[in-house]
Amino acid sequence: MAKQVIYLDNAATTAVSKTALEAMLPYLAEQYGNPSSVYSVGREAKAGLEKAREQMAKALGCNPREIYFCGCGSEADNWAIKGAAYAGRKKGKTKIVTSCFEHHAVLHTCKALEKEGFEVVYLPVDAEGIVCMDAFYEAVDETCAVVSVMYANNEIGTIQPIGEMAAYCKEKKVLFHTDAVQAVGHLPIHLQGSGIDLLSLSGHKFHAPKGVGALYIRGGVLLPNLIEGGAQERSRRAGTENVAGIVGMGAALTEAVASMEENSSKMKKLQDKLIDGLLQIEHTRLNGSRTKRLPGNANVSFEGIEGESLLLMLDMNGICASSGSACTSGSLDPSHVLLSIGLTHEVAHGSLRLSLSENTTEEEIDRVLEVVPQVVERLRSMSPLWEKIKNSEN
Ligand SMILES: *Cc1c(COP(=O)(O)O)cnc(C)c1O
Repeated sequence: MAKQVIYLDNAATTAVSKTALEAMLPYLAEQYGNPSSVYSVGREAKAGLEKAREQMAKALGCNPREIYFCGCGSEADNWAIKGAAYAGRKKGKTKIVTSCFEHHAVLHTCKALEKEGFEVVYLPVDAEGIVCMDAFYEAVDETCAVVSVMYANNEIGTIQPIGEMAAYCKEKKVLFHTDAVQAVGHLPIHLQGSGIDLLSLSGHKFHAPKGVGALYIRGGVLLPNLIEGGAQERSRRAGTENVAGIVGMGAALTEAVASMEENSSKMKKLQDKLIDGLLQIEHTRLNGSRTKRLPGNANVSFEGIEGESLLLMLDMNGICASSGSACTSGSLDPSHVLLSIGLTHEVAHGSLRLSLSENTTEEEIDRVLEVVPQVVERLRSMSPLWEKIKNSEN
């Protein structure tokens, strides 16, 4: 029998829920029609698609016509930022404001736009992992094509003052985009009247399958089309739709929103226990605000060890975790997020991200709190860096 794993990497991806899977199955079997066709199997697929759009809109507090399905969160981020940038340039607006600790889907998009002549301002974040609002107010003006700040950070889980930023952008007539991939399905969001113009989301972060996402485009906001072709997604993103994936996403988000309060209080309890337990280990710090934080995120740094070795040893104990973001694994650069909150390279290298889901159990957290201290001690006993830290204490 396969060893039972303790999966604590839900910020990287989540398991497809039973609800999402069951909603999808008919669309992978008998309801295989093309939603653009006129006959009955096509109409059934179309009905599934439009029901999902209504479910998404209801969950997010917007109009179904403002939901545009696409392939993933990265695609939504690219579309929103490039689209808003090009639309802005036509009106002479060539500045983009973002933060320095965004997901690479945003940061690399901004880098690409810099090469095309846009000026990009990367707002700093404070030691708690919250975007500096002084810098925000200084940077945002009428020359901005778009401001893009993430709703919640994927590595340290910190929640940003999105409402305040969106309101100011509205006042300055600047488009406001938020990468809400970590927030949707986990935090209450009501788009209508929020001042948010563009919002990216991704199904696989809330128990829908991988390879399906959406961009909310507020009614009246004109973005260039992402893919030219057929009339799908009101001609803005052509291509035959991933009907099953979209149906799964509608079902998953509906379920996530309906059980959000219950899930979040359950996760917060386990999160508290986990963070308190990890902080018992000497020379350990919590990364990111303790309070302005997603309910499932714990991110800590252990001085004197290497995160990569820690992950390998946790894996041997059946614990799936992350040392930063999945996108940077394989590279030895420390996480840009951890550096942005002021960690040194050495401390950033000794970091661990554990991200819970509503299916995480207290037994699993107990097991983690048994294994992690042992593994940290073992790694420290072999670490010259740790010896130096201990010596400098005496
Ligand atoms: C996962 C993630 C993305 C990318 O979403 P994909 O669907 O995997 O492309 C973008 N931004 C944030 C904050 C994420 O956590």
